[in-house]
Amino acid sequence: MVIIMAKVICITNQKGGVGKTTTSVNLAYFLAKDKNRVLLVDFDPQGNASSGLGLDKTALEASMTEVMLGAMALTDIIQQTSFKNFDVAPTTPQLANVEVEMAAMKNKFIVLKKALATVAEDYDYIIIDSPPSLSLLTVNGMIAADYLILPVQTEFYALEGVAQLLESMAMVKKAMNPQLKLLGVVATMYDKRTSLSVEVLAEVRKYFKDKVFQTTIPRNVRVAEAPSHGVPVGAYDKFSKGAKAYKEFAREVEERTRK
Ligand code: ATP
Ligand code: MG
Repeated sequence: MVIIMAKVICITNQKGGVGKTTTSVNLAYFLAKDKNRVLLVDFDPQGNASSGLGLDKTALEASMTEVMLGAMALTDIIQQTSFKNFDVAPTTPQLANVEVEMAAMKNKFIVLKKALATVAEDYDYIIIDSPPSLSLLTVNGMIAADYLILPVQTEFYALEGVAQLLESMAMVKKAMNPQLKLLGVVATMYDKRTSLSVEVLAEVRKYFKDKVFQTTIPRNVRVAEAPSHGVPVGAYDKFSKGAKAYKEFAREVEERTRK
């Protein structure tokens, strides 16, 4: 019997509001739709991925918060979503406080990695949604991951902070996780009618070259509406431009992780 171990992808950018959560939820959804077993780990105390999937993050008693404190096993907090092959490890706002407690732990950098190892055989992909910071949580995500995906919003200051992020990635790679790879950079909220969007995308392509995914994610109101209905855009309006783009993007991710 061949045991397949999950490919772990951390979606990260310390810049806020660039589309990390939207990309995490929709990538997870379309990977699952394509018959992959997927776990989405909500690793941001804001809990936007959890609420975007219809969970009430203030009412949860079992979440990533307890896992990071060592009080619960990851398998005990995972919930099924209403979509086939798509599970979620939700979070609560208290995850922010956990970070302070973790600081004193001896194994503070590998808590997430160890937790994910317990379910690696149950999934094809594990997607981690990160907070907008280069915090201990984010470093845990990078250490646990095989790949990073960097969403970049095609707006002013798109590449602000990117050098610092790449430095952190290089440090993690050197010290803790030599096989960590940048899977790619995805341009989000792209509006081909504005010259700013077009210019910024050109700048991002110049900087990251073929690391930039072919698929760009358009600015699309259906994408922004879907979380308030507790579903990914593919389930909310599968014919929308946003849903089509995320479906394409998921295919590209499958392609790149096959190599
Ligand atoms: P944070 O850093 O706070 O975690 P984030 O990087 O996870 O933010 P999102 O929450 O995914 O970013 O997106 C920020 C906002 O932009 C949200 O309101 C989201 O609905 C909206 N948004 C994201 N992608 C799109 C899109 N393609 N079209 C329209 N709106 C979008
Ligand atoms: Mg987010």
